Amino acid sequence: MPKGEDTPLMRQWREVKSRHADALVFFRVGDFYELFYQDAEEGSRLLGLTLTSRNNGSSKAPLAGVPAKALDEYLGRLVKVGRRVAICDQVEDPAEAKGIVRREVTETVTPGTVLSDALLSARRNNFLVSITPSEGSDVGIAALDLSTGELTLHQVPIAEVGAALGRLEPSELLLPRSWEDEASSIAELEGAAKTFRDDWVFDAEPATDELRRRFGVQSLEGFGFQSGDTLFVRAAGALLSYVSEIRPAGVEHLQQPSIVRRGASMVLDEMTRRNLELVEPLRPGAEGGTLIEVLDRCETAMGARLLRRWILNPLVEAEAIWARQDAVTELHASSESRSALRQTLSGMLDLERVAGRVGAARVSPRELRGLGAGLACLPGLKEIGGELGSELLGSLTGDLDTLDDVRDLIETAIDADAGATLQDGGVIRKGYHAELDELRQIRDGAQDTIASLQARERERTGIGSLKVGFNKVFGYYIEVTKANLDRVPDDFVRKQTLTNAERYFTPELKEWEEKVFGAEDRILSLEAELFGDVRRAVASEVGRIQDSARRAAELDVLASLAQVAERQRYVRPEVHTGFESRVRAGRHPVVETMMPTESFIPNDLELDEDGRIVVLTGPNMAGKSTVLRQVGLIHLLAQMGAFVPADEAKLAVCDRIFTRVGASDNLARGQSTFMVEMNETAAIVHGATRNSLVLLDEIGRGTSTYDGVSIAWAVTEHVHERIGAKTIFATHYHELTQLGDLLPGVKNLNVAVREVGDDVVFLRRLEEGGADRSYGIQVARLAGFPSEILERARELLAELEGTHSGGGEGLGRHGSHRPRSEAPPDQLSFFAASDHPVVKRLREIDPDRLTPLDALNLLVELRDQTRGGGED
Ligand code: ADP
Repeated sequence: MPKGEDTPLMRQWREVKSRHADALVFFRVGDFYELFYQDAEEGSRLLGLTLTSRNNGSSKAPLAGVPAKALDEYLGRLVKVGRRVAICDQVEDPAEAKGIVRREVTETVTPGTVLSDALLSARRNNFLVSITPSEGSDVGIAALDLSTGELTLHQVPIAEVGAALGRLEPSELLLPRSWEDEASSIAELEGAAKTFRDDWVFDAEPATDELRRRFGVQSLEGFGFQSGDTLFVRAAGALLSYVSEIRPAGVEHLQQPSIVRRGASMVLDEMTRRNLELVEPLRPGAEGGTLIEVLDRCETAMGARLLRRWILNPLVEAEAIWARQDAVTELHASSESRSALRQTLSGMLDLERVAGRVGAARVSPRELRGLGAGLACLPGLKEIGGELGSELLGSLTGDLDTLDDVRDLIETAIDADAGATLQDGGVIRKGYHAELDELRQIRDGAQDTIASLQARERERTGIGSLKVGFNKVFGYYIEVTKANLDRVPDDFVRKQTLTNAERYFTPELKEWEEKVFGAEDRILSLEAELFGDVRRAVASEVGRIQDSARRAAELDVLASLAQVAERQRYVRPEVHTGFESRVRAGRHPVVETMMPTESFIPNDLELDEDGRIVVLTGPNMAGKSTVLRQVGLIHLLAQMGAFVPADEAKLAVCDRIFTRVGASDNLARGQSTFMVEMNETAAIVHGATRNSLVLLDEIGRGTSTYDGVSIAWAVTEHVHERIGAKTIFATHYHELTQLGDLLPGVKNLNVAVREVGDDVVFLRRLEEGGADRSYGIQVARLAGFPSEILERARELLAELEGTHSGGGEGLGRHGSHRPRSEAPPDQLSFFAASDHPVVKRLREIDPDRLTPLDALNLLVELRDQTRGGGED
């Protein structure tokens, strides 16, 4: 419709919408936030709102609305689906407005920038991540958790972007506009809301200016930037300018950027993060299946968030690991200090996030008071720390800032019963401000004044039932029932008529009312002013609060690790920089918690120069994947500085842990599962080094058996010869056990089963050597297959085994032929060793010394030999 016909309200809306085209505009009208036109339609779709319409000049505008009171709930739902919302509020009092009320967007809420507790999950960070356009082979990444103010900068090779994002778990990505077309097809960028900004926003110059301005510095060197670090700067600059756009009122709690150089922590790729079920179950929605659920005994949400980061960023420097281990050891040994520490932490609220809200001017009076109470726990932490000897614990608590001044300020200024909003009053404590106290006295004198006025007026008028009362709309009044109206004196002025009574005021009452109302208004504005002052004073110390909060969080994580170590009977592993890893009686930290005590069967496992590759066989369900993941998790735990589920462990520090899990175990991703499998395997082959731990759970399952075995075989050879990484390869292809004889660094283990009649009993025990059978039919039987099918399968199996072992046509690695007598009874061999007698004989021949007749005789002899068993 032509804009000329718009009502003034719609004109205002259109103007706002044009500046926030990519957001849903929540447009405040009275007690509602209204959505118009396309926003209304989207809102009704996403939120189930009723779609109506509003008159707009000669036409109608589609409209949907939500009550202002329920704003957070609707925001939460929109943010969850990755939508952004511009909140457009009335910024002047409708009573004073000339014409239409002025409205402005006061806040844009996006998944990566929400601050409200209701919209954040307490135990995980909420990262907004910006990525620069690539330059050469690297990109710059800046990650900001606006709720806590932490800002980290990373420079990573393009190939590792996915891994970096996997560790940050961003809820929103800020990307250069030039990526807009392809971004939706890049798997690494899945799962987060995407916001695009012009590429120039990512340029070095505006970015440097933005950083300098934001942190008030002349040069960026103080942050540890080196020349050539432009990628960091560009990512951070774009991110900060976006944040100013989102929160025009500013944020005071941003921490100085901290640069995460490559090599400080392990690059944990997306596959491994998922396959080892570190923080999320492989099957969404499954509960109790992740490492973090076992490890998180943190008393604070800050601790829980830090723990999550420790899990996703294992250390790679032995010294750093040892330092954490020492701390955990000490807290493990001294259950007294540990419980004192945890007890103290349990009283501490989420200092980081409250500090964030102080900085963003979104803190409620009650929260600010709560911050004071949280700070009151700090001296206790310091005291407990004083009794601890390990270096890390000492350094965390030794110079811990207990922030007494900040706490004093809060406790003297803010009332212990301060409510959630300033409007309720009672925010500033009695005794803090003289004028405020005086005004309150006037207001609180009201009860007495009313009582005496009422007594006087009753006496004067002789109306015994006369009442002086108050209501919000009409203020103070004198109420007289209808029966007594004839006795109302002349100076009573009528104010309101009820069914059974009339309400009046008198000049005296009016005058007094003005005084009380004046005091009331003044109290509220004075309280708001004083609260603002206190908030600003606290905000200026926000860096100190964040520092102490960080230390508290780290103490919390260390104590939690010690607690779990004790509860779950973990031991401190000997972490070293050599090659071998040995675990005695190791357990799977998650699987063991899901079964009754003692029913998990522990296993020993060694990986060293002579057996760096383990080919792990065993029937389905035997426990191969469990052993495999157990080894990965034990290494990962060790590199977090945690204890491990074993009786004893000596573990090499790994530079990377790679995992890949069989196609059928993986979630389909739109690509063919076999393609996914090959991509993942390729990534491992390219990325692994001698110091990596490679965990392969079936390769080549997604294709034909011959294909699959061939690929698996070749990958194993490559890892053995070219990479030399410690590797466990779980497979149900028994053919691969032949590698144990052929390659010196490969050894065979199997998860033992015992056959009892038609059944198979899983022993869950690792044994040397390869498994000889699949027991597929027995497993199918356990799964409740009908007996006719089982019977038929047995028949077919016998037939197939007969054909293969009798046919003499084994698919030899070098085309060699394997006589029937050498074929294992129920194992098909694809790759027979090449020592057939004919081949041997051929090798011995010296053609130079052979006469033509000898040659002919030899040929006949060889032919006869190939008919060895008298077949054909
Ligand atoms: P596979 O990979 O050989 O098919 P899994 O590793 O998936 O077998 O194990 C199947 C099930 O066996 C697991 O879900 C677990 O319940 C149980 N299991 C595995 N290992 C053990 C063990 N060491 N002790 C007790 N139960 C185990």
